[in-house]
Amino acid sequence: MLSISPIQPTSSQSTAHSPLLRQLPLSRSHHLHHRRSRFCFHLLQLTRRRHPSALLIRALDAAQPYDYETRLSRRFSQSTALKIAIIGFGNFGQFLAKAFIRQGHTVLANSRSDHSSVAQSLGASFYADPHDLCEQHPDVILLSTAVIHTEQVLKALPIQRLRRNTLFVDVLSVKEFPKNIFLQYLPSHFDILCTHPMFGPESGKDGWTGLTFVFDKVRIGPQKSREARVENFLQIFEKEGCRMVEMSCAEHDKYAAGSQFITHTVGRVLEKLSLETTPINTKGYERLLDLVENTAKDSFDLYYGLFMYNKNSMEQLERLDWAFESLKKELFGHLHEVLRKQLFGKVEEGVQGPVLSKLPNNVAAFPPPKTNSVEINNN
Ligand code: NAP
Repeated sequence: MLSISPIQPTSSQSTAHSPLLRQLPLSRSHHLHHRRSRFCFHLLQLTRRRHPSALLIRALDAAQPYDYETRLSRRFSQSTALKIAIIGFGNFGQFLAKAFIRQGHTVLANSRSDHSSVAQSLGASFYADPHDLCEQHPDVILLSTAVIHTEQVLKALPIQRLRRNTLFVDVLSVKEFPKNIFLQYLPSHFDILCTHPMFGPESGKDGWTGLTFVFDKVRIGPQKSREARVENFLQIFEKEGCRMVEMSCAEHDKYAAGSQFITHTVGRVLEKLSLETTPINTKGYERLLDLVENTAKDSFDLYYGLFMYNKNSMEQLERLDWAFESLKKELFGHLHEVLRKQLFGKVEEGVQGPVLSKLPNNVAAFPPPKTNSVEINNN
């Protein structure tokens, strides 16, 4: 297969790295190299005579590791490679670092505890002192700290040592809170991207394909290079196959309280029951066991952050409480009805057990259930 490219002198380096030539004695390899160069030269002359505008014919089948195309692609990946500093190098920070490094980005890390050996094993550089880390001038500062400690960590960061337009990213599981502290503490020359990968080391252990990645470009400078840097960062997740969802931090928190917080709460409630696998597990029960596995492994700090720093979570907790009480009352109401039938032979007229169809969206607008009847207002 032949391709046309501008003339590139064959470097001595390329010869030295040719796997075939490397195995030959030096004089023989020189001889072969010489013959190959002469062949290329004649081919070039021939082509130029026939097509005066042609540049150079290269044989791709004989491509060497250091040939032109390899160099071009390396130059391209170097230009898109980011220097990403992860602050908070715990469970999730390390999980993300693996993907960043796999994609050719440089990862620096800083944390409260010493994670230097883990960092080294992953191919990242660990900086115990955040001053040293900031002096490396990363393109991106990524916060992966427990939600409840994020403000304290951001305040302690020597941001004056960073380049003026550094991009700040967070991956916290709540979004309005980090957005507000970023806006409060970061001067306007820093860019801000708030994100939430809706998966973790457990749910994403077999790959990120189809997993949701939420982001909000909160403040990005107008220069093309700054926009390109954000796109470059987002592409990390796109390349891994994530489902990219752009939405405001407020919207995220509303949805997440009704989905993620409920999931974690139910998972933790079930964990308290110490559920065990049985010889007759149903599919549904297996899913419950998976839910416990997926949620209870996360730190309590993470779960507490979902509750404490999302203003919608309290309402969801109350709805959950209300739903449980209502369900109990519905069950007891039916039991009551059966007992009445047995005692009096028929259901008393006008007395009906409670019927629970669906919870209203806003529990505050809904009165606590009465013993015998539940009025549902679905508006
Ligand atoms: P986490 O318990 O939420 O956070 C632990 C991290 O916070 C550790 O790196 C820890 O550092 C750091 N940290 C805690 N207190 C600190 C302090 N005072 N100063 C500096 N660092 C401090 O567990 P995580 O699972 O690793 O989550 C990290 C962040 O990612 C959280 O905001 C979480 O909401 C978000 N997130 C997690 C998941 C997940 O599935 N795990 C998914 C999406 C988003 P040390 O290790 O050095 O003590």
